[in-house]
Amino acid sequence: MGKLIRAALRIGGATVLVCALVAVSDQILAPAQPSSESAANDLLAGHSFYYAGQPRRALEAYRSAIARDPKRLSAWLNGAVVWAELGELAEASAWYRNALALNPESARIATALAEVELHRGQFDAAEKAVDHALDLDPKSAYAWIARGGIRLASGRVSDAVEPLTTAAMLQPSMTLAHYLRGRALELSGNAQDAGDAFAAASVRDSYFTSARLGLAESLMRQRRYEEAREQVGKLKSAAPVNGTILKLARALERNMRRDRGVRPARQSPKPPRAPDGPREGVSAPNAAVPILRVGIGTSGMGKPIPWSAVRFSAGSTVEIRDSAGKMLATARRTENWELRIAKGKYGRYLELLDDKGFALARSRLPILLSSRERDWIWIREPGSVHGLSRRLRGMIEVSVLGNGLGVVNAVDLESYTHGVLTAEMPINSPKEALKAQAVIARTHALFITNVQKKHRPQGYHLCDGQHCQVYRGVQAETNRSRRVVNETRGRVVSYQGRVANVLYSSNCGGHTQSSGEIRGWGEVPYFRGTTDGGENQEIPYSPWQLRQFLREPAQGYCAASGFVHNGHSRWSRVVSASELEARLDRHLGIGKLKGVVSLKRSRSGHLNSILVIGSKRSRIVDSEIRIRSLFGIGSQRSALFVFDTVRQPDGTPREFIFYGGGWGHGVGLCQSGAMGRAERGHSYAEILQAYYSGIEIGNLRY
Ligand SMILES: [Zn+2]
Ligand SMILES: [Zn+2]
Repeated sequence: MGKLIRAALRIGGATVLVCALVAVSDQILAPAQPSSESAANDLLAGHSFYYAGQPRRALEAYRSAIARDPKRLSAWLNGAVVWAELGELAEASAWYRNALALNPESARIATALAEVELHRGQFDAAEKAVDHALDLDPKSAYAWIARGGIRLASGRVSDAVEPLTTAAMLQPSMTLAHYLRGRALELSGNAQDAGDAFAAASVRDSYFTSARLGLAESLMRQRRYEEAREQVGKLKSAAPVNGTILKLARALERNMRRDRGVRPARQSPKPPRAPDGPREGVSAPNAAVPILRVGIGTSGMGKPIPWSAVRFSAGSTVEIRDSAGKMLATARRTENWELRIAKGKYGRYLELLDDKGFALARSRLPILLSSRERDWIWIREPGSVHGLSRRLRGMIEVSVLGNGLGVVNAVDLESYTHGVLTAEMPINSPKEALKAQAVIARTHALFITNVQKKHRPQGYHLCDGQHCQVYRGVQAETNRSRRVVNETRGRVVSYQGRVANVLYSSNCGGHTQSSGEIRGWGEVPYFRGTTDGGENQEIPYSPWQLRQFLREPAQGYCAASGFVHNGHSRWSRVVSASELEARLDRHLGIGKLKGVVSLKRSRSGHLNSILVIGSKRSRIVDSEIRIRSLFGIGSQRSALFVFDTVRQPDGTPREFIFYGGGWGHGVGLCQSGAMGRAERGHSYAEILQAYYSGIEIGNLRY
């Protein structure tokens, strides 16, 4: 019997049919014991199919659960989510209605129904469901957003402002409310308030590109060109090749020229931050501390970018030698000397200029600068306000590199760690979290130097950018950071006696990923996914729960706090289908975009694969990097997201609304979670052991 019902249900398309069959199945199953245990099993099987990227089989399992127990609310709810994700919004609506019939008191279900009706253009039905939701819970920000959305979509733009204002007031952290409010204001001709609303969204989440685009446009409309230009600059750095942004940039320049020839803004150079006083010192290196060679001024890929020239000075005498050990000169403290490139009969060589600009020496060999008192040396690119400027401990090696100079800093591991810590975690973070980060920085440098050796072709161990880890030298140090590094001196993370590969990300969203769950990453025993839910907080494992989880503020260790920015733990994005279509067609050759369906997910909820359906071809995107880079304007913060497709009357996508969590790949340590744990009194060792299972804290004992 069960089989027969399921077969019939599979044919079922319309609401009536599904409901009718449920009634029939009630009758048929009535004499037998309702098998609620198997219904529960079906439900679990459905969730597993969903996470395994098999939505159709998940639906079969939910149907089976319903056939056994038609009052199984969560089967209807989860099925509804899956139907909606598959783009079958009529089905989703029917399933949500059945769920709501079982639990008419749920404002969440009523809101979910309203959203599905809105996204398929059934505005009256959507409006009714919103009424229902707001009767139950007048403080439901999502219900107010849905009301605003209905009015926006049905052309009543000025009526849309009020409900969206209510939503933004009820949940000020909800960037989606501010963004949609901005859109409603913009459309009703109020550019100034629209700008403020877009600004409210982008200050809460600086990577909410659509909001920043709205802000830049409204500033331009108000002829506040300098401010618009600043926003366009930020947009360009978030998404350098985006067509919409480049178009806006050109329009801005055009308008500026047209209106009274406003001059391009000159950026005033920021004075380099002076390092604070010498209260907390850097412990003197001894011969046992490993020396690292760090490329200074490197590209995003970690390649050296030639310096035009290197001016240098120090608070103590600088000894200048060539790499053969021959002493060339000594520069007295506070004198400004310079190394530059010169061309002779036999090619390029280095020229050393003293404080007065006299050329004192020439060398084809690299030139080494070291401070006699083991102090730092200040090097900078002369003649350019945007030039590089670094204060570096250890020795500085300058050599000929193409048309310019290559700079390498030979620095001991402890000093290096001092120069890295605050670039990787804010200095006001809780101390045990900073200590965990210091141990990671040290471990990571050793791992790259001794195991990965990825910069061997460039002649150094590490670059100074994101590619390895950001190294800023003495400029990055503060008294607090020095204390933290000194307190963890020589400590590293090891696994079975070897230096571990300590990956980390900014925020896991609630549960870290196992490396084996990401395609191409491979199993690493200490990268085992773990919950960041904190005490008693379960991480969801069903389509419906995951959706709620990502739409509500995060809980647990990596939730927003005094240390963790709201936009790092939860975020939303709105991307037009035309924007996404252009990008997906360019990269995947799909033609017109027909739909996007999420497939496989890690236990944590991070997406492992997405199906893109196009008019020419359909493609599966299954790399973590591509999932993040293809589905937003700029890059998505993480692969942990669910999304709604808003459709045109003919069913083609009009817009995508993303609800996401976390920032970064979510493997290994979660920096926000480390802060949350430190706030709750965990030690740095406990924090590291929570995220890297089975590791030990080793001591290099130098
Ligand atoms: Zn690198
Ligand atoms: Zn976390």
